[in-house]
Amino acid sequence: MRAIDLSGKTALVLGVANKRSLAWAIAEALGEAGAQLTFTYQGERLAKNVENLSKQFPKAPVMACDVTSDEQVDGVFSRIDREFGKLDILVHSIAYARKQELEGHFIKTSLQGWRIALEISAYSLVKLADRAAPLMKRAGGGSILAMTYLASQRVVPKYNVMGAAKAALEHGVRQLASELGPSNIRVNAISAGPVSTLSARGISGFTGMASHHRRHAPLRRDIERQEVGDAALFLSSDLASGITGEILFVDAGYNIMAI
Ligand code: NAD
Repeated sequence: MRAIDLSGKTALVLGVANKRSLAWAIAEALGEAGAQLTFTYQGERLAKNVENLSKQFPKAPVMACDVTSDEQVDGVFSRIDREFGKLDILVHSIAYARKQELEGHFIKTSLQGWRIALEISAYSLVKLADRAAPLMKRAGGGSILAMTYLASQRVVPKYNVMGAAKAALEHGVRQLASELGPSNIRVNAISAGPVSTLSARGISGFTGMASHHRRHAPLRRDIERQEVGDAALFLSSDLASGITGEILFVDAGYNIMAI
């Protein structure tokens, strides 16, 4: 059997808020496979959480990075360049929309609410890929991974503007895969089923959504965050060397159902 070994690979994981974060499950999977991890946190409020969690990987730098700040984004890539000279894996596990945009009707989405959600949840992938590409080219290629959700394609009540953001994000995955493929940089996304996290709990009706998912998914259960970590590990590894521009569902099969 071929085990996945990421020794010698440098991975940047954006989106850890706490131990429930999908980014944390992904970081654990990549770190246990031997990758050199680097973490970011958004805002001082989350700094302690991420610093405490990262102690599990003692040599992992932890940096502030709000994706709306060019200065912070550039700071992250400068430090990776200085310390490691290259980047092999980038994990984008970031999304945000204002609460009012996730409560009422989509038709009431404000322009400001649309801009904020799409800037943070979709445009940030483009910005990060642009900064990551030179460091990945130096490594001879790389893997960029984003996190998405079925609401990009289907109407999920209350998901509202975040559905638009996920549609833009998924398009970004394909467009970036096409542009970066000649440099051997692969770009994929995982479309995860509902998992109770800080962001997920901000969507009104999340509990009902999750129980509908559990009742109707072919596997008749929730997904475990570790299953997202395992899929991310596969996509980030050479075992997935022929896969790019792909949206991989890790949702207990829910997306195939018509109910
Ligand atoms: P989470 O709250 O743990 O993670 C969201 C992260 O986004 C947080 O770490 C937060 O700090 C970060 N973030 C928000 N605004 C930011 C900004 N301006 N700059 C930098 N970072 C910022 O929740 P999660 O569920 O682990 O979400 C991770 C990803 O997974 C998101 O893209 C989400 O849409 C996606 N996803 C989640 C589920 C689910 O059910 N939990 C399902 C499918 C997809």
